[in-house]
Amino acid sequence: MRTPLPLVAILLSLSTALHAADQTIVLKAARMFDGKSKSLIANAVVIVQGDKIADVGSNLTIPNDAKVIDLGDATFSPGFMDAHTHLTLDYTGTYNERRLKELDLNVSEQAIKATAYARATVEAGFTTVRDLGSRFVGSPEFVDVALRNSINKGVVVGPRMLVATKGIGATGGHFDPTSGFRDFLFGREADYTEGIVDGPDNVRKAVRFEVKNGADVIKAAVSGGVLSLADEVDTPQLTPAEMVALVDESHRLRKKVAVHCHGDQAAREAIEAGVDSIEHGSFMKPETLTLMKSKGTFLTPTLMATEWIMGRIANYPPALQAKAKAAGAARSEMFRNAVKMGIKISFGTDAAVFPHGQNAKEFKLMVGLGMTPIDALKSATANDAELFGIAQKTGTLEKGKLADIVAMPGDPTADITATERVWFVMKEGKIIRNGPPTPQSTAASTVIEQVVEPAE
Ligand SMILES: [Zn+2]
Repeated sequence: MRTPLPLVAILLSLSTALHAADQTIVLKAARMFDGKSKSLIANAVVIVQGDKIADVGSNLTIPNDAKVIDLGDATFSPGFMDAHTHLTLDYTGTYNERRLKELDLNVSEQAIKATAYARATVEAGFTTVRDLGSRFVGSPEFVDVALRNSINKGVVVGPRMLVATKGIGATGGHFDPTSGFRDFLFGREADYTEGIVDGPDNVRKAVRFEVKNGADVIKAAVSGGVLSLADEVDTPQLTPAEMVALVDESHRLRKKVAVHCHGDQAAREAIEAGVDSIEHGSFMKPETLTLMKSKGTFLTPTLMATEWIMGRIANYPPALQAKAKAAGAARSEMFRNAVKMGIKISFGTDAAVFPHGQNAKEFKLMVGLGMTPIDALKSATANDAELFGIAQKTGTLEKGKLADIVAMPGDPTADITATERVWFVMKEGKIIRNGPPTPQSTAASTVIEQVVEPAE
Protein backbone atom coordinates (compact mmCIF):
# COMPACT_ATOMS: atom_id res chain seq x y z
CA MET A 1 0.00 0.00 0.00
CA ARG A 2 1.26 3.47 -0.75
CA THR A 3 1.05 6.12 1.93
CA PRO A 4 -0.38 9.34 0.48
CA LEU A 5 2.47 11.82 0.04
CA PRO A 6 1.05 14.67 2.17
CA LEU A 7 0.90 12.32 5.21
CA VAL A 8 4.52 11.31 4.70
CA ALA A 9 5.47 14.97 4.50
CA ILE A 10 3.62 15.77 7.74
CA LEU A 11 5.19 12.83 9.58
CA LEU A 12 8.65 13.77 8.36
CA SER A 13 8.31 17.38 9.37
CA LEU A 14 6.89 16.35 12.78
CA SER A 15 9.81 14.03 13.48
CA THR A 16 12.32 16.70 12.41
CA ALA A 17 10.60 19.23 14.67
CA LEU A 18 10.69 16.84 17.63
CA HIS A 19 14.39 16.12 17.09
CA ALA A 20 15.29 19.76 16.74
CA ALA A 21 13.32 20.76 19.84
CA ASP A 22 14.03 19.23 23.24
CA GLN A 23 15.07 15.63 23.04
CA THR A 24 18.46 15.07 24.55
CA ILE A 25 20.61 12.72 22.54
CA VAL A 26 23.52 10.95 24.20
CA LEU A 27 26.23 9.58 21.96
CA LYS A 28 28.60 6.96 23.35
CA ALA A 29 31.72 5.40 21.84
CA ALA A 30 34.90 3.65 22.95
CA ARG A 31 37.02 6.78 22.33
CA MET A 32 37.09 10.30 21.03
CA PHE A 33 39.35 12.90 19.49
CA ASP A 34 38.12 16.20 20.92
CA GLY A 35 40.00 18.52 18.54
CA LYS A 36 42.42 19.80 21.21
CA SER A 37 43.98 16.95 23.19
CA LYS A 38 47.22 15.26 22.13
CA SER A 39 45.71 11.79 22.54
CA LEU A 40 42.32 10.09 22.33
CA ILE A 41 39.95 10.08 25.33
CA ALA A 42 38.48 6.71 26.38
CA ASN A 43 34.79 5.96 27.12
CA ALA A 44 33.53 9.02 25.31
CA VAL A 45 30.11 10.50 26.00
CA VAL A 46 28.68 13.49 24.12
CA ILE A 47 25.37 14.94 25.33
CA VAL A 48 23.52 16.86 22.59
CA GLN A 49 20.63 19.25 23.16
CA GLY A 50 19.09 20.99 20.17
CA ASP A 51 21.92 22.01 17.86
CA LYS A 52 24.62 22.19 20.55
CA ILE A 53 26.86 20.04 22.72
CA ALA A 54 25.45 20.27 26.26
CA ASP A 55 28.32 18.29 27.78
CA VAL A 56 31.18 16.07 26.69
CA GLY A 57 33.72 13.89 28.48
CA SER A 58 34.68 10.44 29.69
CA ASN A 59 32.09 8.27 31.53
CA LEU A 60 29.56 11.11 32.02
CA THR A 61 26.27 10.43 33.81
CA ILE A 62 23.49 9.96 31.28
CA PRO A 63 20.33 12.05 31.77
CA ASN A 64 17.19 9.92 32.38
CA ASP A 65 15.07 11.17 29.50
CA ALA A 66 17.84 10.96 26.90
CA LYS A 67 17.87 8.91 23.74
CA VAL A 68 21.11 6.94 23.88
CA ILE A 69 23.01 5.97 20.75
CA ASP A 70 25.88 3.65 21.60
CA LEU A 71 28.31 3.36 18.69
CA GLY A 72 30.54 0.77 20.41
CA ASP A 73 34.10 0.29 19.17
CA ALA A 74 34.22 3.63 17.37
CA THR A 75 35.97 6.99 17.67
CA PHE A 76 34.24 10.38 17.70
CA SER A 77 35.75 13.43 16.12
CA PRO A 78 34.48 16.95 15.59
CA GLY A 79 32.91 17.01 12.09
CA PHE A 80 35.70 17.09 9.52
CA MET A 81 36.31 20.23 7.49
CA ASP A 82 37.83 20.67 4.07
CA ALA A 83 39.45 24.04 3.36
CA HIS A 84 39.53 23.52 -0.39
CA THR A 85 36.60 22.08 -2.32
CA HIS A 86 34.69 22.95 -5.49
CA LEU A 87 31.28 21.42 -4.76
CA THR A 88 29.69 22.84 -7.91
CA LEU A 89 32.30 21.37 -10.24
CA ASP A 90 33.54 18.01 -11.49
CA TYR A 91 37.05 17.91 -12.95
CA THR A 92 37.37 14.13 -12.93
CA GLY A 93 37.57 11.97 -16.03
CA THR A 94 39.37 12.76 -19.26
CA TYR A 95 40.44 16.39 -19.36
CA ASN A 96 39.32 17.27 -22.89
CA GLU A 97 36.00 15.43 -22.58
CA ARG A 98 35.33 17.29 -19.35
CA ARG A 99 36.21 20.61 -20.99
CA LEU A 100 33.75 19.94 -23.80
CA LYS A 101 31.06 18.76 -21.35
CA GLU A 102 31.46 22.00 -19.42
CA LEU A 103 30.59 23.99 -22.56
CA ASP A 104 27.77 21.59 -23.37
CA LEU A 105 25.86 21.33 -20.09
CA ASN A 106 23.23 23.78 -18.97
CA VAL A 107 24.38 25.59 -15.80
CA SER A 108 21.11 24.64 -14.06
CA GLU A 109 21.87 20.97 -14.71
CA GLN A 110 25.34 21.44 -13.23
CA ALA A 111 23.72 23.05 -10.18
CA ILE A 112 21.45 20.02 -9.74
CA LYS A 113 24.48 17.71 -9.92
CA ALA A 114 26.14 19.85 -7.25
CA THR A 115 23.38 18.89 -4.78
CA ALA A 116 24.50 15.25 -5.09
CA TYR A 117 28.14 16.26 -4.56
CA ALA A 118 27.13 18.20 -1.43
CA ARG A 119 25.35 15.18 0.01
CA ALA A 120 28.26 12.83 -0.78
CA THR A 121 30.61 15.26 1.00
CA VAL A 122 28.63 15.62 4.22
CA GLU A 123 27.93 11.88 4.35
CA ALA A 124 31.70 11.29 4.21
CA GLY A 125 31.93 13.21 7.49
CA PHE A 126 32.75 16.70 6.19
CA THR A 127 30.30 18.98 7.98
CA THR A 128 31.99 22.23 6.88
CA VAL A 129 33.79 23.14 3.67
CA ARG A 130 35.43 26.23 2.29
CA ASP A 131 34.42 26.20 -1.37
CA LEU A 132 37.19 27.90 -3.30
CA GLY A 133 35.82 28.84 -6.67
CA SER A 134 32.78 28.17 -8.82
CA ARG A 135 32.80 29.26 -12.42
CA PHE A 136 30.94 28.33 -15.58
CA VAL A 137 32.33 29.73 -18.83
CA GLY A 138 30.17 32.56 -20.11
CA SER A 139 27.68 32.31 -17.22
CA PRO A 140 27.03 34.99 -14.61
CA GLU A 141 25.51 32.44 -12.18
CA PHE A 142 26.68 32.14 -8.56
CA VAL A 143 25.91 28.43 -8.15
CA ASP A 144 28.03 28.12 -4.99
CA VAL A 145 26.05 30.89 -3.28
CA ALA A 146 22.78 29.20 -4.29
CA LEU A 147 24.01 25.83 -2.98
CA ARG A 148 25.18 27.33 0.33
CA ASN A 149 21.86 29.12 0.82
CA SER A 150 19.83 26.02 -0.05
CA ILE A 151 21.81 23.96 2.47
CA ASN A 152 21.36 26.65 5.14
CA LYS A 153 17.60 26.67 4.49
CA GLY A 154 17.37 22.87 4.72
CA VAL A 155 16.32 22.44 1.09
CA VAL A 156 19.46 20.46 0.24
CA VAL A 157 21.50 18.14 2.49
CA GLY A 158 25.13 19.19 2.56
CA PRO A 159 27.98 20.65 4.58
CA ARG A 160 28.08 24.19 5.97
CA MET A 161 29.74 26.14 3.15
CA LEU A 162 31.96 29.21 3.07
CA VAL A 163 32.01 30.17 -0.59
CA ALA A 164 34.46 32.17 -2.70
CA THR A 165 32.36 32.71 -5.87
CA LYS A 166 34.68 33.31 -8.88
CA GLY A 167 38.39 32.95 -8.25
CA ILE A 168 40.24 36.22 -8.92
CA GLY A 169 43.17 36.09 -11.32
CA ALA A 170 45.07 37.81 -14.10
CA THR A 171 44.24 37.95 -17.80
CA GLY A 172 45.57 34.73 -19.33
CA GLY A 173 46.24 33.26 -15.90
CA HIS A 174 45.14 30.05 -14.20
CA PHE A 175 41.56 31.28 -13.64
CA ASP A 176 40.94 32.96 -17.01
CA PRO A 177 38.01 30.87 -18.34
CA THR A 178 38.75 31.82 -21.96
CA SER A 179 42.43 30.82 -21.75
CA GLY A 180 43.49 27.95 -23.99
CA PHE A 181 40.58 28.47 -26.41
CA ARG A 182 40.77 30.23 -29.80
CA ASP A 183 41.02 34.01 -29.40
CA PHE A 184 37.63 35.70 -28.99
CA LEU A 185 35.76 32.39 -29.20
CA PHE A 186 33.43 33.75 -26.50
CA GLY A 187 33.11 37.17 -28.16
CA ARG A 188 34.87 39.17 -25.45
CA GLU A 189 37.67 39.05 -22.93
CA ALA A 190 36.81 37.91 -19.40
CA ASP A 191 36.51 40.78 -16.88
CA TYR A 192 36.04 41.44 -13.14
CA THR A 193 32.54 39.91 -13.24
CA GLU A 194 34.32 36.61 -13.92
CA GLY A 195 37.14 37.41 -11.48
CA ILE A 196 39.62 38.40 -14.21
CA VAL A 197 41.47 41.58 -13.31
CA ASP A 198 44.56 43.64 -14.09
CA GLY A 199 45.84 46.33 -11.74
CA PRO A 200 45.21 47.03 -8.03
CA ASP A 201 42.00 49.05 -8.54
CA ASN A 202 40.53 46.33 -10.72
CA VAL A 203 41.40 43.78 -8.00
CA ARG A 204 39.46 45.88 -5.46
CA LYS A 205 36.51 46.08 -7.87
CA ALA A 206 36.42 42.26 -8.17
CA VAL A 207 36.61 41.76 -4.39
CA ARG A 208 33.74 44.24 -3.84
CA PHE A 209 31.70 42.64 -6.63
CA GLU A 210 32.13 39.17 -5.11
CA VAL A 211 31.28 40.24 -1.57
CA LYS A 212 28.22 42.06 -2.94
CA ASN A 213 27.11 38.79 -4.53
CA GLY A 214 27.59 36.61 -1.46
CA ALA A 215 31.27 35.63 -1.09
CA ASP A 216 32.32 34.55 2.43
CA VAL A 217 36.00 34.22 1.53
CA ILE A 218 38.15 35.58 -1.30
CA LYS A 219 40.12 33.24 -3.54
CA ALA A 220 42.80 34.35 -5.99
CA ALA A 221 45.39 32.68 -8.19
CA VAL A 222 48.79 34.27 -7.66
CA SER A 223 50.75 31.71 -9.67
CA GLY A 224 50.08 29.37 -12.56
CA GLY A 225 48.32 26.05 -12.10
CA VAL A 226 48.32 22.45 -13.25
CA LEU A 227 44.89 22.22 -14.90
CA SER A 228 45.14 25.29 -17.13
CA LEU A 229 46.45 25.25 -20.67
CA ALA A 230 48.02 28.65 -21.28
CA ASP A 231 50.31 29.24 -18.30
CA GLU A 232 53.36 27.83 -16.59
CA VAL A 233 52.69 26.15 -13.25
CA ASP A 234 55.02 28.28 -11.12
CA THR A 235 55.12 31.74 -12.75
CA PRO A 236 53.80 34.67 -10.68
CA GLN A 237 50.44 35.94 -11.98
CA LEU A 238 49.58 38.87 -9.75
CA THR A 239 52.02 41.68 -8.98
CA PRO A 240 52.95 42.48 -5.35
CA ALA A 241 50.88 45.70 -5.65
CA GLU A 242 47.85 43.68 -6.82
CA MET A 243 48.28 41.23 -3.92
CA VAL A 244 48.48 44.09 -1.40
CA ALA A 245 45.23 45.51 -2.84
CA LEU A 246 43.63 42.04 -2.74
CA VAL A 247 44.46 41.48 0.92
CA ASP A 248 43.69 45.05 2.02
CA GLU A 249 40.27 45.17 0.34
CA SER A 250 39.29 41.66 1.53
CA HIS A 251 40.38 42.26 5.12
CA ARG A 252 38.58 45.64 5.22
CA LEU A 253 35.42 43.70 4.32
CA ARG A 254 36.35 41.10 7.00
CA LYS A 255 36.94 38.31 4.51
CA LYS A 256 39.89 35.94 4.61
CA VAL A 257 42.08 35.48 1.55
CA ALA A 258 43.03 32.05 0.16
CA VAL A 259 45.48 32.00 -2.73
CA HIS A 260 46.09 29.29 -5.26
CA CYS A 261 49.87 29.19 -5.53
CA HIS A 262 52.41 26.62 -6.69
CA GLY A 263 55.42 28.88 -7.36
CA ASP A 264 57.93 29.96 -4.73
CA GLN A 265 58.27 33.62 -5.76
CA ALA A 266 54.50 34.16 -5.89
CA ALA A 267 54.12 32.45 -2.49
CA ARG A 268 56.75 34.72 -0.93
CA GLU A 269 55.04 37.83 -2.29
CA ALA A 270 51.59 36.63 -1.23
CA ILE A 271 52.76 35.81 2.31
CA GLU A 272 54.41 39.26 2.54
CA ALA A 273 51.11 40.80 1.38
CA GLY A 274 49.34 39.05 4.29
CA VAL A 275 47.18 36.34 2.72
CA ASP A 276 45.56 33.91 5.18
CA SER A 277 46.35 30.65 3.38
CA ILE A 278 48.52 29.32 0.59
CA GLU A 279 46.70 26.62 -1.38
CA HIS A 280 48.92 23.84 -2.85
CA GLY A 281 52.33 25.54 -2.30
CA SER A 282 54.15 22.82 -4.28
CA PHE A 283 57.43 24.63 -4.99
CA MET A 284 57.83 26.55 -1.72
CA LYS A 285 61.41 26.57 -0.49
CA PRO A 286 62.39 26.27 3.19
CA GLU A 287 63.08 30.06 3.38
CA THR A 288 59.53 30.73 2.19
CA LEU A 289 58.17 28.30 4.77
CA THR A 290 60.16 30.15 7.45
CA LEU A 291 58.51 33.40 6.37
CA MET A 292 55.15 31.64 6.46
CA LYS A 293 55.78 30.45 9.99
CA SER A 294 56.71 33.94 11.21
CA LYS A 295 53.56 35.40 9.63
CA GLY A 296 51.26 32.59 10.86
CA THR A 297 50.05 31.83 7.32
CA PHE A 298 48.23 28.52 6.85
CA LEU A 299 49.25 25.92 4.26
CA THR A 300 46.44 23.94 2.58
CA PRO A 301 48.39 21.15 0.87
CA THR A 302 45.69 19.44 -1.31
CA LEU A 303 47.77 16.27 -1.65
CA MET A 304 44.76 14.36 -2.99
CA ALA A 305 44.60 16.51 -6.13
CA THR A 306 48.13 15.68 -7.28
CA GLU A 307 47.67 12.06 -6.18
CA TRP A 308 44.55 11.66 -8.32
CA ILE A 309 46.07 13.33 -11.38
CA MET A 310 49.32 11.35 -11.12
CA GLY A 311 47.30 8.11 -10.88
CA ARG A 312 45.53 8.93 -14.17
CA ILE A 313 48.14 10.98 -15.95
CA ALA A 314 47.12 9.68 -19.41
CA ASN A 315 43.76 11.46 -19.03
CA TYR A 316 45.48 14.85 -19.31
CA PRO A 317 47.03 16.61 -22.35
CA PRO A 318 50.87 16.40 -22.56
CA ALA A 319 51.37 20.03 -21.44
CA LEU A 320 49.38 19.38 -18.26
CA GLN A 321 51.14 16.05 -17.68
CA ALA A 322 54.49 17.86 -17.54
CA LYS A 323 53.12 20.45 -15.08
CA ALA A 324 51.51 17.78 -12.88
CA LYS A 325 54.75 15.78 -12.76
CA ALA A 326 56.80 18.83 -11.76
CA ALA A 327 54.34 19.89 -9.04
CA GLY A 328 53.92 16.30 -7.82
CA ALA A 329 57.68 15.80 -7.54
CA ALA A 330 58.16 19.01 -5.54
CA ARG A 331 55.18 18.89 -3.19
CA SER A 332 56.17 15.89 -1.07
CA GLU A 333 59.44 17.45 0.08
CA MET A 334 57.70 20.81 0.62
CA PHE A 335 55.04 19.12 2.78
CA ARG A 336 57.60 17.17 4.84
CA ASN A 337 59.50 20.41 5.47
CA ALA A 338 56.30 22.22 6.46
CA VAL A 339 55.45 19.48 8.99
CA LYS A 340 58.99 19.51 10.46
CA MET A 341 58.95 23.30 10.76
CA GLY A 342 55.56 23.36 12.48
CA ILE A 343 53.75 25.43 9.85
CA LYS A 344 50.00 25.71 10.53
CA ILE A 345 48.43 23.13 8.22
CA SER A 346 44.80 23.34 7.18
CA PHE A 347 43.25 20.16 5.80
CA GLY A 348 42.14 20.75 2.21
CA THR A 349 41.84 18.48 -0.79
CA ASP A 350 40.71 20.24 -4.00
CA ALA A 351 37.67 17.93 -4.25
CA ALA A 352 36.28 18.12 -7.82
CA VAL A 353 39.71 17.17 -9.19
CA PHE A 354 38.81 13.76 -7.68
CA PRO A 355 35.26 12.49 -6.95
CA HIS A 356 33.36 14.33 -4.21
CA GLY A 357 33.03 12.29 -1.03
CA GLN A 358 36.58 10.86 -1.13
CA ASN A 359 38.02 13.82 0.80
CA ALA A 360 39.15 11.66 3.75
CA LYS A 361 41.78 9.95 1.62
CA GLU A 362 43.89 13.07 2.24
CA PHE A 363 44.51 11.92 5.85
CA LYS A 364 46.51 8.86 4.76
CA LEU A 365 48.63 10.97 2.39
CA MET A 366 49.41 13.48 5.16
CA VAL A 367 50.39 10.75 7.60
CA GLY A 368 52.45 9.04 4.88
CA LEU A 369 54.48 12.24 4.51
CA GLY A 370 55.36 12.56 8.18
CA MET A 371 52.36 14.03 10.01
CA THR A 372 51.11 12.26 13.16
CA PRO A 373 47.52 10.95 12.98
CA ILE A 374 46.46 13.29 15.80
CA ASP A 375 47.92 16.32 13.99
CA ALA A 376 46.21 15.24 10.75
CA LEU A 377 42.86 15.02 12.59
CA LYS A 378 43.55 18.41 14.20
CA SER A 379 44.24 19.95 10.78
CA ALA A 380 40.76 18.86 9.60
CA THR A 381 38.98 20.17 12.69
CA ALA A 382 40.45 22.81 15.02
CA ASN A 383 42.98 24.19 12.47
CA ASP A 384 40.40 24.58 9.70
CA ALA A 385 37.95 26.18 12.15
CA GLU A 386 40.64 28.71 13.09
CA LEU A 387 41.44 29.47 9.45
CA PHE A 388 37.73 29.80 8.58
CA GLY A 389 37.17 32.17 11.52
CA ILE A 390 34.49 29.89 13.06
CA ALA A 391 36.48 28.40 15.96
CA GLN A 392 34.19 29.93 18.58
CA LYS A 393 31.27 27.88 17.13
CA THR A 394 32.76 24.60 15.96
CA GLY A 395 35.96 22.59 15.33
CA THR A 396 36.24 20.94 18.76
CA LEU A 397 33.99 18.77 20.91
CA GLU A 398 33.34 21.20 23.78
CA LYS A 399 30.37 22.29 25.81
CA GLY A 400 28.42 25.01 23.98
CA LYS A 401 29.85 24.28 20.52
CA LEU A 402 27.63 23.21 17.60
CA ALA A 403 26.95 19.47 17.62
CA ASP A 404 28.95 18.63 14.48
CA ILE A 405 30.10 15.10 15.31
CA VAL A 406 31.31 12.15 13.26
CA ALA A 407 32.17 8.59 14.25
CA MET A 408 34.49 6.14 12.54
CA PRO A 409 35.10 2.47 13.33
CA GLY A 410 38.15 1.50 15.40
CA ASP A 411 41.05 3.78 16.30
CA PRO A 412 42.29 6.33 13.72
CA THR A 413 45.60 6.77 15.58
CA ALA A 414 46.32 3.07 14.90
CA ASP A 415 44.93 3.16 11.33
CA ILE A 416 44.31 6.60 9.85
CA THR A 417 42.23 5.10 7.01
CA ALA A 418 39.43 4.69 9.60
CA THR A 419 38.60 8.30 8.59
CA GLU A 420 37.55 6.92 5.18
CA ARG A 421 34.92 4.70 6.86
CA VAL A 422 32.92 7.31 8.77
CA TRP A 423 29.38 5.95 9.18
CA PHE A 424 27.84 8.31 11.70
CA VAL A 425 27.42 12.00 10.89
CA MET A 426 25.63 14.63 12.96
CA LYS A 427 25.46 18.26 11.84
CA GLU A 428 24.07 20.88 14.22
CA GLY A 429 22.41 18.16 16.31
CA LYS A 430 20.66 16.50 13.35
CA ILE A 431 21.68 12.98 12.40
CA ILE A 432 22.55 12.94 8.71
CA ARG A 433 23.82 9.39 8.67
CA ASN A 434 23.92 6.45 11.09
CA GLY A 435 24.91 3.40 9.08
CA PRO A 436 25.20 3.00 5.30
CA PRO A 437 24.92 6.11 3.11
CA THR A 438 21.40 7.10 2.05
CA PRO A 439 20.05 5.74 -1.26
CA GLN A 440 20.30 9.22 -2.84
CA SER A 441 23.98 9.36 -1.98
CA THR A 442 24.58 5.85 -3.29
CA ALA A 443 22.89 6.84 -6.54
CA ALA A 444 24.98 9.98 -6.76
CA SER A 445 28.26 8.25 -6.08
CA THR A 446 27.39 5.53 -8.60
CA VAL A 447 26.99 8.23 -11.21
CA ILE A 448 30.25 9.81 -10.07
CA GLU A 449 32.09 6.49 -10.20
CA GLN A 450 30.88 5.77 -13.73
CA VAL A 451 32.14 9.13 -14.90
CA VAL A 452 35.49 9.02 -13.19
CA GLU A 453 36.83 5.51 -13.33
CA PRO A 454 38.30 5.30 -16.82
CA ALA A 455 41.09 2.80 -17.55
CA GLU A 456 44.25 4.05 -15.90
ZN1 LIG B 1 41.06 24.25 -6.35
